[in-house]
Formats: sequence, C-alpha cells, structure tokens
Amino acid sequence: MHSPSDHETPLGCGPLCPSLSDAQRPVKLQIFERIRAAGSASRSQIAKELRISPATASTLTAELIDDGFLCETRATLTPTDSPRGRPPVALAIEAGRHLVAGIKLGTHEMTGIVVNFGGQQIASARIEVDTGMDSPRVWAENCATLFRELLNEGNLTPPQIAHLGVAVPGYVDNFSGIVAWSPLLDTRGTNFADLLHAHLGVPVSIDNDANLVALAELWFGVGRDKSDFLVVTVEKGVGTGAVLDHRLFRGAHGYGLELAHTKVQLDGALCRCGQRGCLEAYVSDYALVREARAALGLLDEPVARTTELLIRLGDEAKAGNPVARSIFTRAGRYLALGLANMVSLLDPSFIILSGDRLGQNYFEAEESLSEMRQLVLGAGRSLPRIEVHRWDDLLWAHGGAALALSAVTEAELGLPREDAA
Ligand SMILES: [Zn+2]
Repeated sequence: MHSPSDHETPLGCGPLCPSLSDAQRPVKLQIFERIRAAGSASRSQIAKELRISPATASTLTAELIDDGFLCETRATLTPTDSPRGRPPVALAIEAGRHLVAGIKLGTHEMTGIVVNFGGQQIASARIEVDTGMDSPRVWAENCATLFRELLNEGNLTPPQIAHLGVAVPGYVDNFSGIVAWSPLLDTRGTNFADLLHAHLGVPVSIDNDANLVALAELWFGVGRDKSDFLVVTVEKGVGTGAVLDHRLFRGAHGYGLELAHTKVQLDGALCRCGQRGCLEAYVSDYALVREARAALGLLDEPVARTTELLIRLGDEAKAGNPVARSIFTRAGRYLALGLANMVSLLDPSFIILSGDRLGQNYFEAEESLSEMRQLVLGAGRSLPRIEVHRWDDLLWAHGGAALALSAVTEAELGLPREDAA
C-alpha cells in the first residue's frame, strides 16, 4: 500500500475508474453487442434492456444504421405483439460489413476459420505440420500457409480480412502481442502479433489458446448464458480459461489463471517451463510419456512419438497392467487436486473439461471427480457442474475468430484501447 507521501491523497472515496473502462462500455457498442448476441432485437427491447429512453435508443440505432453496422429486418414476433397490424421491425447486424479469421497453432495440425461480422462461418481450412519448438519466424510461415488455404477456400483476398485472432499456448499478453514463453517458440519475449502482421498483411491479435477456448464457449458454445465458468484443457499441456461476469479474465498482465504452472509439489517433477512441481509436469502428455517409457521398459529404445507411446500405455492399462493403471490414476488425482484448488479460489458454476486425452484416458473416471469433491471444503456448498467435451480444433479457431470480432468491434465502436486503458 502506498503511504501518503508516495501519492497525493485523492479526494472522495470509491474505485477511481478511467472514463471508459471495460465495465463502462460506450452505449452504441453495448447496443451492437446485444443485437449481435440476440440475432435480432427491436428498438424497444434494446431501450428496456439497457435502461435508456426509447428516444435515445432510436437516435443511437439510427446512427448505427447510417454507419453501416445495423440494418432493419422483419421481427419474429407473433401478430399479437404487433399492434394495429403494423409490420413488426427489428434490427440485425450488417453481417457482410467485415470478415475476420481465427487460427490455432498446433504441432501436428493447424486449423483456421473465416467468419462474417455476425459470426457465421464462411470458410475453414486445416494443414498438416510437423513443427515442434521452433523459431517465431517458422511458426509465422506456418500461419501464412494456413492463411493462404483459408483465403483459397473462401475465394478471398487478404484485404477482405479485417482482423486475425491467433491461439498460442503459453504465457501470452493479448494487450501487447508479446509471447513471454511458449512451448512452441524457441525465443522468449517475441512480439508475435507484430511478426504475424508483417508476414500476413492483416492486423493480428493473439491470446493464450485456453483463453480462446473459453472465449469460443462464451461466444458460440454452452457458455453463452453463463456468467462464471472455467475451461480446462488437457492435451500436450494443461490450459485454463475463465469467464467471470460474462467476460474473459486475463489478469493484470494477461498471464492470469495458468493452472498448468501452479505448484503441486515442492521440488517436484521437472516441467517444460523450466520450473519444478508444476501441475502440468504430472498430468500432460509429456508427463505421461516420461512415466510410460519407464513403466513399459523402453528407456533404452529410441524416443517414439508421443501418441504411439500413449496408445501403448492405454492398452497396457486396459489389459490390467497395474503400473500402467497407476500412471493414469496418479495423473487423474493431480488433475482433481488442481481443479479443487480452482473451485476453492473462484467458485465457478460450471467447468468444461476438454482435450483429446480426457474422453479416453483417465479423467472421466468417477473416482477422480469424487476426489475433487472431497478436496473442496464442503460445508453444504454446491459444487460446480462438470462436463467433458471432446471438441475438434475448429472450436479453438472459433475462439480466435471471436477475439478478432471483439478487436474490430471495439476499435470501431469503442475508444482506442490506449485511451480506454
Ligand atoms: Zn511449469
């Protein structure tokens, strides 16, 4: 806490918010976002929901129509909703105003989509890659290849894409575009958004890939009507995204809620981030493979591909090999521990678990979930509902597209971010 000598004591009391913080979005932006979320809405609905006068709603929506953001459409009202037989009119998004794209980085496959301003999918593409940790330039080349595929698929040219959102694993600062650390990049502190912008010729926003799964759920999935929920992904690593009060939570520097690198053991197993005892070092692919090689007596053999070893380990466990089984059980218990800590910290109403490994391996087991419940202090509290989703990678790309839609919308209907911060 600052002492009075550090700062001039401000007058008054209560939070000193900037003139346009995220919680105080411009009314026109709020109108546009409500209509986009609902598909269509009448002027009177908007006035009611935003608690503004019908005259203000009329003026602002007229400006949005004049500026090409909204159009009038036939309302889907019953005849009784439309007095005196007047044709009911609602407002909808000018979906063709912009196209945006979303891309997910991946070590074996990369996926991308193009959507219009209303969120409808226009094109999708996948490319095979065989890139592990490599230079940011190589990853930018991969993105450029996928971006060209997307444009071909949609019969589009680069200037038609207003913005691109890219999902990157690791510590990613969405605000600055800097990747502080990623398991895919061999250098730290790269401004990957700027590098991609230079390579692809379109404005780019980046974010942590699990954040973008949470954003995809918030924009397109089961999270649309939920105020607070968590997404935990278990694949090559462990990812976490959280939506609090209907907005993605990123923390002060964009690195918030990295469940993967919370410590579950002092001086524990070595994590690929370079530290010891991280949750990820006990539950992710590479952690299971490390144990599988010892359990299956493969320490002297050449390193096999991760997926092959995991399949062998899974087969051994199914066949009753107690060591193989214990590896999955242990990983499930550590994941239960991590989730229990998240529930204790954030009290979400809903948790979505996602990732290739979840359906087939260890975490659907009821004993892991019951372990999680036991680790959370009970006292009569209700525990979050947990669902296991097995999405394909296009959902991650949808999160990138949602990020791009936000960036374009806020740039045109909000204040520039440097003014709003
Ligand atoms: Zn770590």
